[in-house]
Amino acid sequence: MRCVVCQEIIRSKGNYKRAKYCSNECRKTYYHKKWKEINPAKGNGNLNTGVVGAIGELRVSVDLLQKGCSVFRAVSSSAPCDLLVLRGTDFYHVEVRTGYKTSAGKIGFTKNKIPSPLKLLWAIVLPEEIAYFTDNLESHTWKI
Ligand SMILES: [Zn+2]
Repeated sequence: MRCVVCQEIIRSKGNYKRAKYCSNECRKTYYHKKWKEINPAKGNGNLNTGVVGAIGELRVSVDLLQKGCSVFRAVSSSAPCDLLVLRGTDFYHVEVRTGYKTSAGKIGFTKNKIPSPLKLLWAIVLPEEIAYFTDNLESHTWKI
């Protein structure tokens, strides 16, 4: 059996007869490459995180405007809320995060605890789509 990354012969130890990698380095290289295939940078490569964050907020704003919402963006970057969204008579606190996809196709993102007097929604920005989740991670759709 040869390593799927470097083609070295795997020296099997005990139960590791079905190992695909010769070393931890090759295993990490394999998963890093796979992750990059699932999460292409889509031109974000040279942009600083502030710019990527602003693009995410603007993409979510456009998406919510298209869904018929009124969208309010924070004037100060230290505001406790990224976007305030009015839909009918309901206000939502929307937090925007850059997300990624796991190899199983699940959406991942960094969720922190955010106190809010409003209904909190997470807008997860992916290269080709935006996904919305309630604070208990149920997926949310904006019915038009
Ligand atoms: Zn290897």
